[in-house]
Amino acid sequence: MFTIQLSNIKVGKSSLARQIAPADLQLQQHDPFVAPIAADLSFDREGKNILVDVNLHCQVVFLCDRCSEPFNSEIDEQVRLLITADRELNGEQDDLVFVVSEYEQEVDLTDPLRESLILSLPIKRLCSENCQGLCPYCGVNRNVEICNCMSQTTDHRWDQLKDLFKSN
Ligand SMILES: [Zn+2]
Ligand SMILES: [Zn+2]
Repeated sequence: MFTIQLSNIKVGKSSLARQIAPADLQLQQHDPFVAPIAADLSFDREGKNILVDVNLHCQVVFLCDRCSEPFNSEIDEQVRLLITADRELNGEQDDLVFVVSEYEQEVDLTDPLRESLILSLPIKRLCSENCQGLCPYCGVNRNVEICNCMSQTTDHRWDQLKDLFKSN
């Protein structure tokens, strides 16, 4: 769980830097998050409102879509939240607006931070734009080894076709 104490946030601008363990955001089942997440929080408190800008930065490990090798990458994500005691904002159907009572001590930010990190993950994951991937015939990683499967297989296929045409 990742919560912030409202009484610690003074009027005006302030900031807070925290390291969040992936498990604290319930991210343990999402493999790429292997290191603590650096969260820089900036607060702007005025009247009943606290505007919170969160910068999230973390190292992740992906498996390449083409060659299946693990590689390091980084995630940078920004989230803006509004914590407010203004009950008129209660009807807002917005996940990023938290309406609190004036006596509330803390706000749980686990869900919005977890969701924004998951949404920031790229759909396509390549160790490099030029990744050659695995050979579909012998399975070698073509970034590190050269095999002759492609040319040989093509040749054999043509030979068989040629034989077929000959025998007819
Ligand atoms: Zn690759
Ligand atoms: Zn091969």
